[in-house]
Amino acid sequence: MRVRRFSVAFAAAGALTLGLAACGGGGGGDTGATADKATSVVDKVKNTKRIVVGTKWDQPGLGLNTGAGEPQGFDVDIAKYVVKEISGDPNVQIEWKESASSNREPFLANGTVDIVFATYSITEERKAKVTFGGPYIVAHQDTMVRGDAAEITKATDLAGKRICQAAGSNSYKRITDPPPDGKLDLDAKLVGASNYSECVSKLSGNNLDAVTTDDLILAGFAAQGGNFKILGDPFTDEKYGIGLKKGDTKTCEAVNKAVTKMYSDGTAKQIFDKWFGKAQGLSAPTAVPPFEGCA
Ligand code: GLU
Repeated sequence: MRVRRFSVAFAAAGALTLGLAACGGGGGGDTGATADKATSVVDKVKNTKRIVVGTKWDQPGLGLNTGAGEPQGFDVDIAKYVVKEISGDPNVQIEWKESASSNREPFLANGTVDIVFATYSITEERKAKVTFGGPYIVAHQDTMVRGDAAEITKATDLAGKRICQAAGSNSYKRITDPPPDGKLDLDAKLVGASNYSECVSKLSGNNLDAVTTDDLILAGFAAQGGNFKILGDPFTDEKYGIGLKKGDTKTCEAVNKAVTKMYSDGTAKQIFDKWFGKAQGLSAPTAVPPFEGCA
């Protein structure tokens, strides 16, 4: 990895206008989840009628919690559908738990959450620690810059530029590392942030040059306004998996069945159109993505 670290002060500008719960992330270790080591999540949810679902809380369009009740977004709606299908019960009580990128693996491993729907790309590194259902959608990494930035028009222009490194996220590696979990292997300068809402605040405050991550995430932020442009130069496939504790293949098979049904009954398209129907350059998938296998 050819990376130079670049430290900048946090820019508060823009954080409020984004209206986001940027400070969350949660502390690991609590035991709100209903799963235990011996039982699959699908059995537990059927028995207890409760489940703890990890989602993002700071990403508009995907998982955003404004504090007025439960989080809202594409991932949240997908989670509700899948939970209803695997439990066979529309009245299961869902406890929503903020799962920032850096918390997803630890929260699954220590039982803080039962299941994760959080813009969670299936990667080779993560497969060693997590069992992934799905993918339920395939996003593509793209890049957002300030509206007046003329010198960055394509992803490879990010060489030498300041890009955001959201903690626990894989997106910066797609720029700075080679495959399998990287892609472009460019020498960019990393500016740390705790999540993508902080990345976007830093972009608007001129503390970095680009936020490069999944097109769905960028579309959600762009829809909130601000002086940004998205390059429209996608360069990866981000297979969004349903995160489960490593080894819970029974639940994995159940969620895959639910995802298949979600596509065949038209719900996947409905949910996509609800959240991204107006986003430029994005269109609803027409078929269920090929599953990765429940390893
Ligand atoms: N999908 C990418 C990942 O899982 C970026 C978004 C995120 O971190 O949630 O790393």
